Amino acid sequence: MKKVLAFDVDQTLNIAKTPIPPEIADLLTQCLDHFEICPISGQKYDQFLFQIVDQLKDATPEQLEHLHLFVAQGTQYYRYDASKKDWDQVYSYPLTDEQVAEITEAIETAAKELGYWEEDKLAEGDEIIENRLSQVTFSALGQKAGTEAKYAWDPDCKKREAIVKRAKELAPAYDYEIGGTTSINAITPGMNKVFGMTHLMEELKVEKEDILYFGDMTQPGGNDYPVVQMGIDTITVRSHEDTAYALRGILGLVK
Ligand SMILES: [Mg+2]
Repeated sequence: MKKVLAFDVDQTLNIAKTPIPPEIADLLTQCLDHFEICPISGQKYDQFLFQIVDQLKDATPEQLEHLHLFVAQGTQYYRYDASKKDWDQVYSYPLTDEQVAEITEAIETAAKELGYWEEDKLAEGDEIIENRLSQVTFSALGQKAGTEAKYAWDPDCKKREAIVKRAKELAPAYDYEIGGTTSINAITPGMNKVFGMTHLMEELKVEKEDILYFGDMTQPGGNDYPVVQMGIDTITVRSHEDTAYALRGILGLVK
């Protein structure tokens, strides 16, 4: 029996950048009674709260102690303290200012050269490149763009693959991963989900065999692929509906 259910977030638990739907919230809450639940994604901490934690309205503090937030691909880890009713940061591995500047310049130059720098489409106050401390994230249409526009921007990943190829030439010291619907995450090598999953195993004192991972980008080049390469059992989903289907099956076995 698995001890840990780990999840990519965007397109695995929700529609990208939106809160998890009530059905997923209900299923995750039930799973907290039987498993350690570990969302791991390139998102920032406040997005984890908005998309996941705030939606688990029926979860008790004791249940939340089984929820583990692996933020920014697991380069930051947050755990719930039921006595304080709040989240503690257990660790964080940020990029240096120089690394952030190098990556930002490479991606911006690549996107501009290719004609994929869509500054004119940004909402007010929004930004294309965001420093998420442990990674730098390119979101072609910004954070605030509508879901439909995001889906339409690069459905076959070709634009992002081209940006990644050029950015890698300009700043080869970093790894660039495609995720979500319009994003590229740039990280220092090794600071991908392997880093997060390795720390997860240390922190939760579990082995690879104890983990079942859900993700939508498990193909080579996708940001869930490193987890597959580690040899962790993985379920590839197309959307949160597939995840809900699988979770109902798993809950049927443990109840
Ligand atoms: Mg995803």
